[in-house]
Amino acid sequence: MDEDITADLRVLQSHLDGMLNRVQHNSLTLKRLQAFEMRLLGLSSLTEMIDYILDESKSLFDLEIVSLFLFDPTQEIAAYLASDHYPYQSRKGFLLVNDDGLFKKFFDYTHRPLLGIYHAENYEQFFPGETERPSSVILAPLVRRGKYLGSLNLGSFRQDRFIRTMATDFIEHLASVLSICLENTLNFETMRRTSLIDPLTGVNNRRFLEQRIDEEIDRSMRNRQPLSCLFLDIDYFKRINDNFGHQAGDHVLALVAAAIKKQLRSNDVLSRFGGEEFVALLSGSGEGISGEIAERIRSSIASLSIEFCGQTIPVTISIGVATFDAKLSKVISANETASQLIHTADGALYKAKNNGRNRVESGGVISEKLQLQHA
Ligand code: GH3
Ligand code: MG
Ligand code: MG
Repeated sequence: MDEDITADLRVLQSHLDGMLNRVQHNSLTLKRLQAFEMRLLGLSSLTEMIDYILDESKSLFDLEIVSLFLFDPTQEIAAYLASDHYPYQSRKGFLLVNDDGLFKKFFDYTHRPLLGIYHAENYEQFFPGETERPSSVILAPLVRRGKYLGSLNLGSFRQDRFIRTMATDFIEHLASVLSICLENTLNFETMRRTSLIDPLTGVNNRRFLEQRIDEEIDRSMRNRQPLSCLFLDIDYFKRINDNFGHQAGDHVLALVAAAIKKQLRSNDVLSRFGGEEFVALLSGSGEGISGEIAERIRSSIASLSIEFCGQTIPVTISIGVATFDAKLSKVISANETASQLIHTADGALYKAKNNGRNRVESGGVISEKLQLQHA
């Protein structure tokens, strides 16, 4: 009899210990979750947010594999990330998806997380580029106002880690906070960018260039890579306005901006500097390559056939090139280098105009001149 009671007590004690352990574990998870969310709410840029989610949710949930998908139907997010030099195409675990069919297929019924044993045929697509497969997964949709923003996908090597009957309140809570933060950050990025974009041509405005050029010079000094600047100006643009009308002139401006942009890489910076003048910054391009790019732009514009109200408008552009070579020691401030770079490119443009227009001229590498001046 006594023995039975002792045995019962032991079983009871071990149940209690188990419960206590679970309570302690849950309260610890809750604390970590709160700390994670507080940090998340304090992040202001999309790139910080992506890195934080991918790096920290592994340790938060004690997981081996994490991926984050963002729905980007208009390639706007891709543009934000490219302009911030974020290597989003090679970032492990990160994917921009331009079709929400995948989210609809998996989450449309409940908009709630899916969890269970990993089946490659269903879930492999949520973990691209992973060499090791998880054994159980939880896929949490990120939804705001009924629209998919993306999904957070977590994988564990333990098969019993995520089972179908498990409560999902922690992850649902995290997914809603994440969705709000993402929506806010994306709205903020859009606002930031629209105030820095020229509405007629859709390229950056001069304010953007002024903010950006110092950063580009600092980056080029840090990476010991050259930075080139193209100063581009449409030839006899006043005549286009006079002969075809101001609206035709606006149409030409928009098409010329698009044609220049087409020849640049996504992380080059193009801005409308004023009227019919543009400035492009080519990071990592030295004197030779930037001269070739300028020549490609010049010839692509000369061969444009611009139609407006049944008339064909001929258009050409002149380009001045200048290069900053960071390999030649750091002598002056980024700010001073920036104004020298633009000034030299502008001088080369002036030469191109004087030498007959529809041509490219180079002002050379500025650091050599700057070093002489500051010696
Ligand atoms: P050059 O070959 O020497 O550059 O001659 P240009 O006629 O292009 O240069 P100029 O500076 O004399 O004229 C620039 C013209 O660009 C004058 C201005 O009315 C026109 N312009 C500036 N901004 C706009 C705009 O937003 N839309 C239109 N349609 N025209 C503009
Ligand atoms: Mg002009
Ligand atoms: Mg001009």
